[in-house]
Amino acid sequence: MPTNILMSIVGNHERVPDVFFWIRPYMNMHDWKWQIANRISTRGQLEEVVELTDAERAAFEGDVPLAFAITPHYASLLGSDALRRTVVPTAAENQVGTGELADPLGEEGHRATPHLIHTYADKVLFLVTTFCSTYCRYCTRSRMVGKPQKVAASTFGQTFEYIESHPEIRDVLISGGDPLTLTDSVLDDLLGRLRGIPHVRTVRIGSKVPVVLPMRITDELCAILQKHRVWLSLHFIHADELSPETQAACRRLSGHGIGMVSQTVLLKGINDDARTLIDLFYGLLEINVKPYYLLQCDPVRGSEHFRTSVARGIELIQSLHGSISGLAVPQYVIDAPGGGGKVPILSHDQIRRVGNRIVFQNHEGREYAYPDPG
Ligand SMILES: *Cc1c(COP(=O)(O)O)cnc(C)c1O
Ligand code: SF4
Repeated sequence: MPTNILMSIVGNHERVPDVFFWIRPYMNMHDWKWQIANRISTRGQLEEVVELTDAERAAFEGDVPLAFAITPHYASLLGSDALRRTVVPTAAENQVGTGELADPLGEEGHRATPHLIHTYADKVLFLVTTFCSTYCRYCTRSRMVGKPQKVAASTFGQTFEYIESHPEIRDVLISGGDPLTLTDSVLDDLLGRLRGIPHVRTVRIGSKVPVVLPMRITDELCAILQKHRVWLSLHFIHADELSPETQAACRRLSGHGIGMVSQTVLLKGINDDARTLIDLFYGLLEINVKPYYLLQCDPVRGSEHFRTSVARGIELIQSLHGSISGLAVPQYVIDAPGGGGKVPILSHDQIRRVGNRIVFQNHEGREYAYPDPG
């Protein structure tokens, strides 16, 4: 890191004892742009914070197929083995399992404009950026995240016009990449434009920023989200993510009256046991975040080591329904591969096994198959 930045940080803080020399580059936890500028994005930088295993080191040997970056904030939590496995590349992600696809949800087939996915009648997915401050190894949109956007933001006009001319659209979900990595003024303009469309009733933003970049949640940002009455759909996978900074960020959002829900991807060996999930879901309620979805991990290329069987998902959700506060229980869903939409799964009666695929029906009674890792 440049010496002048380091000097300004050290100058602004109490002197850091030299035993902490390795953490000093990460001391300015208050400026989100600094966090982004100082992301860990090479094997060398990663090795300064964690000791890599052979499989992790091997992942960097050839091309790293999936985008790689970790904020200093999230890196400070990697003492948690669960979190580490979601962001540190491993050789397993280069293996493509049976039935895995670059675009498992068939989003490209529903692309209505360069930035808009229109799968359901009354709601749309507005992809405003391909950038995330930290990249999850199991990301459904790994085909595009961290890559230069094919079409610039200056072409949003076409998307606004599409939404304006489709009065059946009531709900706009702004996603990406992570929209909260955009600047306040860009977000304010974007949200203002959407709020100017009379038939748009709900505006949501999907984000992991309160978890990976909590210092982004400033009072100024909260005021913008409040002004435009935005709901946040956050992405949490484990209670180890509930750092004091993340809790403070969510409390600040809540203090501004922002409604928040959480989506949790079910991940093998990371959160696929009842105790871990219960811990997370109660932890979320304590910071006013309602557990919304427990998502069966999409069969994206290189995800097999992350995916549990659907039977395991059903067993887990049934054990939660039978034991904890209903408020703490999300809906377990499989996003039907190929674009059938999200299907809530409550019991084994809804599914049948055909070979190593799990077959189920969506809301229209059409059949879809999920490649079950067994
Ligand atoms: C998940 C998703 C939505 C939002 O779905 P909800 O169930 O309303 O949260 C909208 N569009 C697409 C394409 C989606 O995948
Ligand atoms: S934050 Fe979301 S969009 Fe970004 S890498 Fe993770 S799963 Fe993908």
